[in-house]
Amino acid sequence: MLSQPPELVTALDAARRAAKICTAVYATLVEAANKSGREPVTIADYASQAVITARLTSAFPRDSLIGEEHAEDFERLLTHEQRVRVLDFVRMGLARPISESELKTHLRPPTTGARHWIVDPIDGTKGFLAKRSYAIAIALQDDLGLQLGILACPNLALDSPRTQTSSGILFYAVRGAGAYWQPLAGSEAQKMQVAPTRPDEPLLIATSVESEHNDQALFERIVAHLPSPDKQTLMLDGQGKYGLVAAGRVTSFLRLVPDPTYREKIWDHAAGTLIVQEAGGTVTDFDGKPLDFSQGRRLEHNRGIVASNGVIHNALLEAIAKVVH
Ligand code: AMP
Ligand code: MG
Repeated sequence: MLSQPPELVTALDAARRAAKICTAVYATLVEAANKSGREPVTIADYASQAVITARLTSAFPRDSLIGEEHAEDFERLLTHEQRVRVLDFVRMGLARPISESELKTHLRPPTTGARHWIVDPIDGTKGFLAKRSYAIAIALQDDLGLQLGILACPNLALDSPRTQTSSGILFYAVRGAGAYWQPLAGSEAQKMQVAPTRPDEPLLIATSVESEHNDQALFERIVAHLPSPDKQTLMLDGQGKYGLVAAGRVTSFLRLVPDPTYREKIWDHAAGTLIVQEAGGTVTDFDGKPLDFSQGRRLEHNRGIVASNGVIHNALLEAIAKVVH
């Protein structure tokens, strides 16, 4: 069993509180507002981010925090009534009163510090809105790289990832100390290890559901070039895909955004990357380069994502090289 550093204890608690809010909103008819680039955002994104930020910045006031959502959009996109609902959910999540001006400070977190928390309050908002899967992602990075990764997946089941459950999973990893999963509701954590599957054995390859997030035709062609005679695919929203690779339930996760000018956001990959690495797997871009999380909010130097059990990584890169020019 992993002895838990205070950063992990606080961040796991924040993730559980955020998951409770997201689960409550998910059960209702959720309206979305559109940020620039037609990306949806909901009251749950803001409430989840505010609760996570409030917990992390009060426990670790010298750290900075990079989160997906901003106070400017909260003011610009939400109605008065929606802002009141966000406040109610944040009060529930923090179990204390909070004013709108304090709430806004949590949507404008500190930008300088030796360590950076990286937060995606709802990863897979389109999945959340469509009543599919989503995740809450928290990572901690310092000068030496990613140190901590947490994914709360409120409706993911390890044994049946194609169907939503009401229980959910927490995946987490601490650099050098392994990767673990436990039911979101509690009970003992289990250490995770990627599957030992070889390239010629049956493979299960995961990708995004949304065609704007992954070139589905190209994905099919890459999969077709893998040596295994038995290749199944799984489409899932959010970073639960990384958790499933780490837990040995899928052999790989591939993603190539069709828009060649798009650069991946660090909060969509930081937690998942450490979780896969600590479970013995490998994460690179489509050229086989490690993901570089040190370039601000985006993975400026990487294109395409390949997360695998490590054993099939070269076979994946070879298939990609045959198909992507
Ligand atoms: P996935 O769960 O794999 O579908 O990826 C979800 C993430 O894709 C979201 O959290 C967004 O940050 C990101 N995303 C949103 N819109 C786009 C887009 N148009 N192209 C690429 N990625 C996007
Ligand atoms: Mg996201």
